[in-house]
Amino acid sequence: MTNPIFPVPAGTETVQVRIIDTSTRMAKLPLAFLMQPPMEGMQYMPEMPAWSFLIEHSSGQKLVFDLGVPKDWRSFSPVILQIIDSINCEITVKDDVIDILKNNDIPAGQISGIIWSHWHFDHIGDPSKFPTSADLIVGPGFKDAFCPGYPSAPDSPVRESDFAGRNLREIDFSDSIEVGQFRAYDFFGDGSFYLVDTPGHAVGHLSALARTTTSPDTFIFMGGDLCHHSGQIRPSKHMPLPFDIQNAIPATVLPCPGAQAYEKLLLRRNGAFFTPATMVGTDSKTTIRTIEKAQDADADSNIWFIFAHDPSLLGIVDLFPLPANDWKKNGWRRKTLWAFLRDFDMAIAAQDKEVGQVSI
Ligand SMILES: [Zn+2]
Repeated sequence: MTNPIFPVPAGTETVQVRIIDTSTRMAKLPLAFLMQPPMEGMQYMPEMPAWSFLIEHSSGQKLVFDLGVPKDWRSFSPVILQIIDSINCEITVKDDVIDILKNNDIPAGQISGIIWSHWHFDHIGDPSKFPTSADLIVGPGFKDAFCPGYPSAPDSPVRESDFAGRNLREIDFSDSIEVGQFRAYDFFGDGSFYLVDTPGHAVGHLSALARTTTSPDTFIFMGGDLCHHSGQIRPSKHMPLPFDIQNAIPATVLPCPGAQAYEKLLLRRNGAFFTPATMVGTDSKTTIRTIEKAQDADADSNIWFIFAHDPSLLGIVDLFPLPANDWKKNGWRRKTLWAFLRDFDMAIAAQDKEVGQVSI
């Protein structure tokens, strides 16, 4: 066991992990759509990227975890198009992941499996562009909920073409091991890569845990959409806000709005800043429980927790085609952990205004 807070079975094998910027960006997404309570001065989520991960095993097998939004998203199923329409955010996509891979000498034929963290439009890409030799790997309950797929099932959000002719593999956690408090599936059978049962946000929501180094054992936790902002997972009971914020957060990632202003906002908070908003198709109670379990991983300095839409990585960490395995040596967790406090600049400005008004 590697850590008392988030124990992971011992292992000697690692996988190579590369973080792919899918080129997806989502802007002007109302904060209230994803999180509560509201924060004055922060009407929208920060512009959201969508991370995908290329995982390479020593056997040569390559997996892709999530695919972002595809360029031709207008050909999604009617159900998904309705969802996109109702959210009314600005979506831009420059490249499909399959082309990003190809442009870096990784032809689609080398991919043995595509893992969907869940079925939402900003994660599923277009698997039909990959050869049918690539499995599509999904979480528990997926087949019951969505198969046979659109158009045979007109109200299914996923398309039959997403899995036509390929192995649609639904992970069964009933006979599983545990990582932390989560059920996990040892994908390669050697402890190098686990699929993690993280339910709540969507039917069969999956995360993944990759062993990135040994001696010491370090891991990357790919959290998908188990949260949508670092303020949903931090601070936590294991990881309170640093007492001296200005010193704890490297200056490179925190423009200084004035320590006193930050303290005014932050001292009001004991746990995470936000909880998930109630959304159609999500199970709020389970989502919150999943976040609590993920906080164990997030607080472990040998685990780097990355959720799908974390903008903190931009400009700080190496992205595909470069590997991310040496994240700890490079200090990427430390540099990105509290960077989300920048998002509160507007809220702090709003509070300053309020205080100013009161004093007048
Ligand atoms: Zn998402």
